[in-house]
Amino acid sequence: MSGYEGRCPSCGGPLVFRLGSSLLRICDHCGVAVARKGAALAAYGKVAELIPTSSLLALGQEGGYEGAPRFDLVGRLQLDYGTGTWDEWLMGFRDGTWAWLSESQGKFHYLGRVPVPPAPGFADLHVGQTLDLGPPGTFVVIEAGEARFVTGQGELPFDVEPGSRLRYADLSGPDGQFATLDYGTGATAEALFVGREVALEDLGLTRTRSDEERRTKVAVTALSCPQCGGPLELHAPDQAQRIACPYCGSLLDATRDLAVLEALSHPPVTPLIPLGSAGRWGGIEWAVIGFMQRSVTAEGVRYPWDEYLLYQARQGFRWLVEAKGHWSFVEPVNAGDVIDRLSRKEYRGQSFRPFQGGTARVDHVLGEFYWAVARGDETDTADYICPPLMLSREGTRKELNWSLGTYAEGEEIWKAFGLTGSPPEPRGIAPHQPRPFGEAGHVYGRFLLGLAVAVFLFLGFTVSGGHPLFQQSVSIPRTAASGSPEAALFTDPFVVPDEGNLEVRVRAPVNNSWLYLDGALVNDETGGLDEFDLEVSYYAGADSDGSWTEGGKEAVAYVAAVPPGRYVMRLAPQWEAGRPLPGYELSVRTHVPRVHQIAFVLLALAAWPLFLAWRHFRFESQRWSESDHPWFTSGGGGDD
Ligand SMILES: [Zn+2]
Ligand SMILES: [Zn+2]
Repeated sequence: MSGYEGRCPSCGGPLVFRLGSSLLRICDHCGVAVARKGAALAAYGKVAELIPTSSLLALGQEGGYEGAPRFDLVGRLQLDYGTGTWDEWLMGFRDGTWAWLSESQGKFHYLGRVPVPPAPGFADLHVGQTLDLGPPGTFVVIEAGEARFVTGQGELPFDVEPGSRLRYADLSGPDGQFATLDYGTGATAEALFVGREVALEDLGLTRTRSDEERRTKVAVTALSCPQCGGPLELHAPDQAQRIACPYCGSLLDATRDLAVLEALSHPPVTPLIPLGSAGRWGGIEWAVIGFMQRSVTAEGVRYPWDEYLLYQARQGFRWLVEAKGHWSFVEPVNAGDVIDRLSRKEYRGQSFRPFQGGTARVDHVLGEFYWAVARGDETDTADYICPPLMLSREGTRKELNWSLGTYAEGEEIWKAFGLTGSPPEPRGIAPHQPRPFGEAGHVYGRFLLGLAVAVFLFLGFTVSGGHPLFQQSVSIPRTAASGSPEAALFTDPFVVPDEGNLEVRVRAPVNNSWLYLDGALVNDETGGLDEFDLEVSYYAGADSDGSWTEGGKEAVAYVAAVPPGRYVMRLAPQWEAGRPLPGYELSVRTHVPRVHQIAFVLLALAAWPLFLAWRHFRFESQRWSESDHPWFTSGGGGDD
């Protein structure tokens, strides 16, 4: 790399800029910040001492990341965001390029410099705004503010006087991408960095301070509450910003020697899950380190809920939320992965419907918090549901957070955290509570499949089914009168081979007339009788609307469940007076599929889906009665 070497204008010691692009160098010998101004070096004055943080990294460490040239940590920047100090590390690659490695709450983000697209001025930025960053995609602003350049070490790629306030916007993009727009001390964006979270292991660092070393450092800090003297055990001491003493409830500033921010004499609430409890959830052992009671007030009614802050060193923070006896396990979500779909939100391919929103207020806190929590803090919330999931947006003017809650049963929580007694009885229906009897999609699916099979079989039998048994042409004597015994007849005998229905079909040459048959099926052996009747009528004509026809020249009657045996039919015809009828064609088939049979099958198939549909309708109407959004107008309730 094309570095630069000179002498410190303050102490005369050797000063090496390893990166050609570095503009600021903190002298290793005298601690003065030296800026490169063209060919000259100018001193800004001595920088503040480094603030001890629990960073796992150190200047001079080398590593390799994703096939890029090897890098050294050549600079360190300490920024104060008003709630604590964060480290940013400058990675100097062996080819002279560089990138930031930002460290916050035990997480690392690799951020490479990319060209700045047209971006709004700092004054026009707002949280929740989406920005098209060009090739990296569309990002959403999740935080905008100022940070103070407290101090640094090694070399830095900008020429800013230590102590200055630097303006920035953090953005979240698709697929877990992260970006920072740097405004420096001005009003327009100066630099854009885009990257993603990286695991420390993936950076191939030569040596890092081990977790053990870190813990030892932390453990020596024996803490006790300045208000009541109670011992305070911190689970995430390097990240704690606020501690609400579990003994007296007083709120302490963990970043300023436990200064008392709010003095109380006893805890205002008793959490159902005691602070310090440990439990296994999703295969990970979590410690309950904080408790918060929050509420929204709507039309004068306060709706409270409880939140338990969970912590695990490698995983970071999660939440257990309890409202009216309903529980959720809540994890953070990348704002950039939440996609707008009209009124809905899409996350990981699932569609979430708007449910309710409001202003949530912090009423009580206990335990340890990684942000500067205070009673009375307010955030705007909006919940979107896709049971058993709930996607929640929480925003202030400065910050935007998304999270994903998964519905959980109180019993599971009690078991996971080894709690005694029983969980509170759930009241009402939670926004993202799964429906009883499952989602039922598969039940409806099976019903449709059954329906298709039944229709297919019915059509198949209709085409191929029905075995012809008997056929006869009947002629009526010319002299016989309608309804007279001379017109009646017994057919030739025929055999029904096995039990089944019989279809009697009559075809008659009626034309603007009718034929009525009073029929009986007579068992030749037992004399048993099954009566039926049928009528053939056909009328045609023309009027002012054109020609018309009514009826047909065929009619059918069925006799159900005829036992096997020898049969004859007795048929007594009547016909329209004055319209002579030469005779008719008679045919008999057995095992003929009937519409009412398939109707019965369908009814049987549909009973369970109908019951479920009714249950689901009742459940959903109750769920949505709690929503700001009507069930039907925002996209239809029956989503199955
Ligand atoms: Zn010096
Ligand atoms: Zn106390």
